[in-house]
Amino acid sequence: MIHAHAAREARAPLTPHTIETGPLRPFEVELAVTHCGICHSDIHLIDDDWHISRYPLVPGHEVVGTVQACGPAVTDVRVGQRVGVGWQSGSCLACEWCLRGDEMCCAQEEATCVGRPGGFADRLRVDSRFAHPLPDALASEHAAPLLCAGITVYAPLAAGVQPGMRVGVVGIGGLGHLALQFARAMGAEVTAFSTTPGKAAEAERFGAHHFVVSSDARQMEQAKGTLDYVLSTVTAPLDWPVWLDVLRQRDRRARRHAGDAGFRGPYRRAPAGRGRAAAGCERGAGEGPGEPGALPDRAGRLTARYPAPNGRAGAGSSGPGPQTERACRRMKAMRC
Ligand SMILES: [Zn+2]
Ligand SMILES: [Zn+2]
Repeated sequence: MIHAHAAREARAPLTPHTIETGPLRPFEVELAVTHCGICHSDIHLIDDDWHISRYPLVPGHEVVGTVQACGPAVTDVRVGQRVGVGWQSGSCLACEWCLRGDEMCCAQEEATCVGRPGGFADRLRVDSRFAHPLPDALASEHAAPLLCAGITVYAPLAAGVQPGMRVGVVGIGGLGHLALQFARAMGAEVTAFSTTPGKAAEAERFGAHHFVVSSDARQMEQAKGTLDYVLSTVTAPLDWPVWLDVLRQRDRRARRHAGDAGFRGPYRRAPAGRGRAAAGCERGAGEGPGEPGALPDRAGRLTARYPAPNGRAGAGSSGPGPQTERACRRMKAMRC
């Protein structure tokens, strides 16, 4: 019996809900949930904004827990092990996409809390191959948000950012906070963009070298042609020509984490001209067993070696410094 919290209908509050369970499937594990983040996608699911929700709906896809029981075919985790589960919790593991590590493109992709109960519960059942062992250095409350919000910004940054690049992060909310830290730890010179001038101090604390008020036309004019890479974390429609002008001339790209008006859908590419490229993805690329499993591992090794004062991944905020350089070398060695 699983004790959970569920929405009974669209936009309903969560109320206690119990779920009967049978025997574990061959590759399934049962976790005792200790932590679960809350993501805006949970709200979208509760409210049926995407028209895919089934009720009662138990949200939660940033789950940390301890393995309590394993199905007969499970070999990659063991009872007592602390693991994390993100948005994706299943795929065929045999198709072209799965075999090359792009499990999020699999036609049989399963999401942790779509059509099945998620992590707002005392127990979670999931395919063991999507339950990622967490390094000891990473506290559970820090690991949980990395499993969706973290991978969403980490994957596009890891795919395109090299040490020394000038990286812009648009939107300084939860995703932006994580993106600033990752970009900084990857050795980038980081610029935070926000419409809220009061966020300058927190952006700097999270690793930004520069802060631009994006609603200030003069500051945006000064920012033209200064960046190698822009990651947008906002859900509001953006004036893309303005953001493409912020990029330098050639071989550069803008990435964003989720669809919005005018630039929607996974991997849709927009003609940008003059060597600039824009690409979008509905969520972090590489959300399969390899990528989110690698993220907490990498973040854990970084936090273990280079602990930040606030306990988050990444180095401090005063100049690139030897910590960041070492972190970058280490991440490079790991082929991030
Ligand atoms: Zn999420
Ligand atoms: Zn597949």
